[in-house]
Amino acid sequence: MSPMFVPGPVDVAEDVLQAQARPILPHRSPEFETIFHRAEQKARKLFYTQYRVFITASSGTGLQEAAVRNLAKEKVLACVNGAFGKRWAEVAETNGKKVTRLEAEWGQPITPEAVAEALKQDHYEIITVVHNETSVGLENPIKDIAAVVHEVSPDTLICVDAVSSLGGAKLEMDAWGLDMVLTSSQKCLALPPGLALGAVSDRAMERAKDVPNRGWYFDFIRLEKHRLKDSTPATPAVSLVYALDYQLDRILKEGLENRFARHEAMAKRVRSWALDRGFKLLAAEGYRSKTVTSIVNEHGLDVNEINEFLLKRDMRIANGYGALKGKTFRIAHMGELQMSDIDTLLAALDEFLQQKGVL
Ligand SMILES: *Cc1c(COP(=O)(O)O)cnc(C)c1O
Repeated sequence: MSPMFVPGPVDVAEDVLQAQARPILPHRSPEFETIFHRAEQKARKLFYTQYRVFITASSGTGLQEAAVRNLAKEKVLACVNGAFGKRWAEVAETNGKKVTRLEAEWGQPITPEAVAEALKQDHYEIITVVHNETSVGLENPIKDIAAVVHEVSPDTLICVDAVSSLGGAKLEMDAWGLDMVLTSSQKCLALPPGLALGAVSDRAMERAKDVPNRGWYFDFIRLEKHRLKDSTPATPAVSLVYALDYQLDRILKEGLENRFARHEAMAKRVRSWALDRGFKLLAAEGYRSKTVTSIVNEHGLDVNEINEFLLKRDMRIANGYGALKGKTFRIAHMGELQMSDIDTLLAALDEFLQQKGVL
């Protein structure tokens, strides 16, 4: 396996890829329903929830859309401090919702104080916020944000995008009182792209019943009716569900706490490597992501050239996202990556810096 240090899609272990290769089962067969049931039960552990997990044939953005369609008739408070928070605001707007954006500079967190202030100004049915802003390598303080929402506007539902953190950095849905948490298969879960997982609280399910025009494909009420029969309204991504079932066993065998510690240790190594070499980190101290580090390109390096150099060694990193292209570059440390992979990458990057006369 040639390691990719990019924040999704990430490398998938050979045996997980192989798990997809078993014969296709009809989705309305007891054999498939058993696997689907098992996968859903195990998936709840990732979210630290007792409620339910919808497993959809879509990428994570599909569930961003599901959140706004199912849980808000009209008013959404969208937290934006990076590209994916911005996308969620746009998803809400293009679905006809009335969106107020709570913005913070990219690299700075959404603070509980700012959320409290916004909730005192107006009433919102839901708040959307990204746990791990992949575009800037920042972790928003979800637990503290949720605490102020509960205090200031207890009936506002809390929707969290944990696409690049679930299974890599801790997020406790029930203990923190979150109403919907969504993720994709191709990031911290180290599965092929194509599945999304969304956990939804009972309170959010109740709310959905009163929201008109929830659509069909992502309608929580319809999904729930079928989930209770260990199935889905439309054809599920059968092979990916096999892989999910298998990978969840691997993840739970490693142990979630061990997995989080592995990611955090790799994050610390990458951060100190960057700082020691005169780079700055884009995300503010205290809010740096445990799964992807965004490094400010202080030395004016050509990121494409870095990757050409790395590709000869079977590795690659990610450029900055959108407007940050060239200004930053990102090293992901999620999924199956180990410290030894990080060591190999950083040694190669040092060699590159030496060639460029930076070191
Ligand atoms: C990758 C990413 C998304 C988009 O996920 P898709 O699975 O590509 O739809 C959304 N939010 C965050 C935080 C991401 O990192």
